[in-house]
Amino acid sequence: EELHHSGFGFGHVNVGGRVPLGLKTKGLRILVTGGAGFVGSHLVDRLIGRGDSVIVVDNLFTGRKENVMHHFGNPRFELIRHDVVEPILLEVDQIYHLACPASPVHYKFNPGSQDQCGRNIEHVGPGEESWCAVLANEHQRRCTVILCSTPRWRLTGATSTQSFVNGIRYFSDTWHASAGVRSCYDEGKRTAETLTMDYHRGLGIEVRIARIFNTYGPRMCLDDGRVVSNFVAQALRKEPLTVYGDGKQTRSFQYVSDLVEGLMRLMEGEHVGPFNLGNPGEFTMLELAQVVQETIDPNAKIEFRANTEDDPHKRKPDISKAKDLLGWEPTVSLREGLPLMVSDFRQRIFGDQKEDSA
Ligand code: NAD
Ligand code: UDP
Repeated sequence: EELHHSGFGFGHVNVGGRVPLGLKTKGLRILVTGGAGFVGSHLVDRLIGRGDSVIVVDNLFTGRKENVMHHFGNPRFELIRHDVVEPILLEVDQIYHLACPASPVHYKFNPGSQDQCGRNIEHVGPGEESWCAVLANEHQRRCTVILCSTPRWRLTGATSTQSFVNGIRYFSDTWHASAGVRSCYDEGKRTAETLTMDYHRGLGIEVRIARIFNTYGPRMCLDDGRVVSNFVAQALRKEPLTVYGDGKQTRSFQYVSDLVEGLMRLMEGEHVGPFNLGNPGEFTMLELAQVVQETIDPNAKIEFRANTEDDPHKRKPDISKAKDLLGWEPTVSLREGLPLMVSDFRQRIFGDQKEDSA
């Protein structure tokens, strides 16, 4: 009964709220796009838990119904199978816009075909298309929208397109950041940040921007190619851990509950951002492999493989802004978080078999 079509439209996604924020602080109506995915489903759990009404809009491209099935039957929960690049009319107070394939194997999906490539870029929404549509609505003025972006390093690209020699500026004619194999993701997010701020300045829409660093936890896709899920699944299946390149590249791994807390603080706070949300603890891939060995199987073998193109060598967030302005910092270390993910993976990989072999 709280939800009804607004009837207004720009012929695209129309999502908006009529209840001014501030008048209603409890029991908000919240849209989580991509809410059947890994991060989204944990966010949904928290929001439902605190008494909000949640609508998940998800096309189940990488998400799974199983991630949110425990809320089916709850009158405060609704799942709509829908692609966010297509129109939909909803009325809500807050939007967490998470819909987007987040792992390289998914966002590089069939990039050779023109149709798939276009589709891919749309899916990489919040690319221009879907993000624009979410924001381009009068009703948004009363609704706060959070964009899940990616670390700035990626947004600026792997190498500079210009260089200085003896004070002269040279412009290179290589592709660099704009057309590398990861560009559909990075450029989609970068465009989304630009549009978000244009809508904020131009229309006064309340927006928030989070730049999310590598996050892991239960409900990650088993075979999405990301390093933590790969290593954990490999160790459980007694396969070698595949370390790409020399394994000296670093990442900082954030447990999903820390990210969810950060996103909620960002939404409820007064600052637009962008905010880095990540765990500053930095690990090389070889160190990560070692933690996985210690946690799951000390005898797990390591196998070196060629690295992928454009792989960032180092990634560690500076979270001082989020600490100062949101009072947020991660609390779960890799050694604490990993076992929580392992039990979920064990269950999903072996199911009943585990009991049989035990
Ligand atoms: P995920 O793939 O588990 O979740 C994304 C969800 O969006 C899935 O449920 C998928 O089905 C849905 N989706 C994709 N395209 C859609 C579309 N066009 N319409 C409707 N639904 C669609 O990924 P995640 O790790 O939960 O990531 C959530 C968000 O956080 C993404 O925006 C991602 O880019 C961002 N992010 C994640 C990480 C990370 O390490 N997990 C890092 C940086 C940014
Ligand atoms: N990686 C690896 N083995 C794997 C998968 C990934 O060594 O099986 C490396 C990859 O080369 C990169 C890091 O792990 O340096 C993180 O990769 P991921 O795809 O998880 O995230 P992203 O590159 O987006 O940070």
